[in-house]
Amino acid sequence: MKINENFLKVPESYLFTDIGRRIAAYKQAHPEADIIRLGIGDITRPLPAACVEAMRLAAAEMGTEQGFRGYPPEYGQPFLIEKIREFDYAARGVQLDSDEIFISDGAKSDTGNIGDIFDRDNIVAVCDPVYPVYADTNAMAGRAGEPGPDGKWSRLIFLPCTADNDFLPELPEKRPDLIYLCFPNNPTGASISKAKLAEWVDYANTNGSVILFDAAYEAYITGDAPHSIYEIEGAKTCAVEFRSFSKTAGFTGVRCAYTVVPKQLTVQSVSLNKLWARRQATKFNGVSYVTQRAAEAVYSPEGRRQVAANIEYCRRNAAVIAGALREAGFRVWGAQDSPYIWMQTPGAMKSWDFFDLLLDKAHVAGTPGCGFGPGGEGYFRLTAFGEAGRTLEATERIKRIFS
Ligand code: PLP
Repeated sequence: MKINENFLKVPESYLFTDIGRRIAAYKQAHPEADIIRLGIGDITRPLPAACVEAMRLAAAEMGTEQGFRGYPPEYGQPFLIEKIREFDYAARGVQLDSDEIFISDGAKSDTGNIGDIFDRDNIVAVCDPVYPVYADTNAMAGRAGEPGPDGKWSRLIFLPCTADNDFLPELPEKRPDLIYLCFPNNPTGASISKAKLAEWVDYANTNGSVILFDAAYEAYITGDAPHSIYEIEGAKTCAVEFRSFSKTAGFTGVRCAYTVVPKQLTVQSVSLNKLWARRQATKFNGVSYVTQRAAEAVYSPEGRRQVAANIEYCRRNAAVIAGALREAGFRVWGAQDSPYIWMQTPGAMKSWDFFDLLLDKAHVAGTPGCGFGPGGEGYFRLTAFGEAGRTLEATERIKRIFS
């Protein structure tokens, strides 16, 4: 009997578990401390009323003879898929077929599970810093090789994202099979222009690579950055796209997302759409009816208004945080098209040291950049999801200490 030993290679706990532990330890030692958490990327605003009402109606429907539904369609309810097709894609000039959209319980699961349909020997490229799920799930699958002392995996290609390249990765020198891109980016908050993303699409099509494009934060885009990779010509033959209702509509606790796998996308003449459909039908039993009705309500006129108001709320927080940090003399990125504010620590301080300093002096908890990969060392992430008054209070404390 043997376990999957790759699991022994990944860090023992998830970044946010470590952060939670440190905050709990601090709280125990300083029970009077009023800690403001600007760390974890979780929504704090209540669900849009339109979604709550849709859930209430759907739950009532399920309690009737005629309205009861058992297992949902495994790839998603047609009523939701049609709304996605119309509002998220056709409205931006992208035509998708219904069977190219797969409703799921999260972009985290989908970005992690997508590896199932690719060979273990494929070479994977990830940005550095990166949303840890991409690297860790490939490590669990045995695709990342061995972890090095510098925090880098031996078989992963790390694409440096630094202040010098505005946190936009350069095309790799060595060809990867799979390329994870996330824009607007977690953790750096960087967004990518159409022209820059087109370079990646051309690269992938020329080199036979597949881009795994995570657009979980597209709703935060304010300028003309692409919301979908399919706004770029040629992307349907080289890219899978992941979207989520989590950060768009506050569904982090409700759980609903979707993945687009175009039928034109093939590897070794095999349709990835077919493989993903097979994978989902085998390992996933769909998203609840009540949840999908709630997601559908995101596209109603009231839903759209309420979602826009929540995002605007976060944007204001992001502007407050970024403004205060700049006033305090920090170098700051993100915040514009993203709920994340990415800052350089003062005096090249290590990320965890700054975490401890901020927690101790300001009672503000953020996220150490090094938790997102070695390239995040010396950086720190704050999030705009908090309550506005508390966010403002956190920034005043930071300004008092560092100005
Ligand atoms: N992708 C990125 C880049 C994220 O930052 C997150 C959550 O923080 C997710 C995916 C997870 O999305 P979901 O809640 O749909 O699983």
